[in-house]
Amino acid sequence: MLHIVACIKQVPDTKIIKMNPKTNTMDRSSAPAILNPYDSHAVEEAVRLRSRYGGVVSVLTMGPPPAVKAIKKCIEIGADEGYMITDRAFAGADTLATSYALTKALQKIADIRPIDLIVCGKMTIDGDTGQVGPGIARRLDMPPLTSVNKVAEINREEGYAIVHRKLEDGYEVIRSTLPCLLSVEKDINEVPYSSLPNMLRAARYQPIIWSVADLGEIDKTQLGLKGSPTIVSSVWAPQKPQGGKLLEGSYDEQIRQLLDVVLTRKELFEAQAGAGGGAS
Ligand SMILES: Cc1cc2nc3c(=O)[nH]c(=O)nc-3n(C[C@H](O)[C@H](O)[C@H](O)COP(=O)(O)OP(=O)(O)OC[C@H]3O[C@@H](n4cnc5c(N)ncnc54)[C@H](O)[C@@H]3O)c2cc1C
Repeated sequence: MLHIVACIKQVPDTKIIKMNPKTNTMDRSSAPAILNPYDSHAVEEAVRLRSRYGGVVSVLTMGPPPAVKAIKKCIEIGADEGYMITDRAFAGADTLATSYALTKALQKIADIRPIDLIVCGKMTIDGDTGQVGPGIARRLDMPPLTSVNKVAEINREEGYAIVHRKLEDGYEVIRSTLPCLLSVEKDINEVPYSSLPNMLRAARYQPIIWSVADLGEIDKTQLGLKGSPTIVSSVWAPQKPQGGKLLEGSYDEQIRQLLDVVLTRKELFEAQAGAGGGAS
């Protein structure tokens, strides 16, 4: 039976979040926590593949206890099972330590039910690195297929997947062995409104929760802050560009204003060129 695991993360809604002007860090309390939007597409794709081929969809997150809400959101989308790893030892993890902890959890999930496919979002909207998916794939020694915007075929019996990878000027078709890991683009699917039965199931659902002690043999020096070689040397908010003019009025008026600017620039340029200034 096809077993797909989607890795998901709860993130602050960065459309709303405020920055602390003193520390230049995110004030996480200023915005609600949501399921990382890319991950909702990862879960939706897993659910669609289950509809095509049968099987089971599990979701996995590493996060603080309130991240249960993100798992419930995935159950609303249609996932069957939710796993969460949560422990103070995971705190302060960079992408290397995050991928290590998630890999340990994935190995434990695979002991319960072998995994055919892991699906991640392309990136998170808070950390934004896109490193965790490929990090997991490397640790599990499986092919990482990034920027996937279509899953053309999964053949569990013959052990392969065919996907489309988005490129700047088109896409490429890749055939990979299973198991493999996909990082998916937002345009891979549209996440529909949740059905009432899924919402009711999500409201009652309690995920399986593991701490470090539940993950079996584990190298604690690779977890959390201790296992995180990344050093954030400074953080700053980009300066707002100075000058510029906001166009106002109707669409036609804005076009007229824009043409005025362009023509004035052109006249200035020609005047300079005529005076021997040349182009610069
Ligand atoms: C020095 C340092 C300290 C940090 N300390 C903290 C901290 O204390 N608390 C904190 O919240 N963050 C902390 N971070 C941020 C942390 O590294 C990232 O949140 C985490 O590693 C995921 O990276 P990302 O958000 O860039 O994910 P990406 O690599 O952009 O995510 C890609 C995909 O991987 C999967 N994924 C990512 N994270 C998870 C997860 N946690 N569970 C399941 N799937 C996941 C999702 O499918 C996601 O779409 C720290 C970072 C650094 C560099």
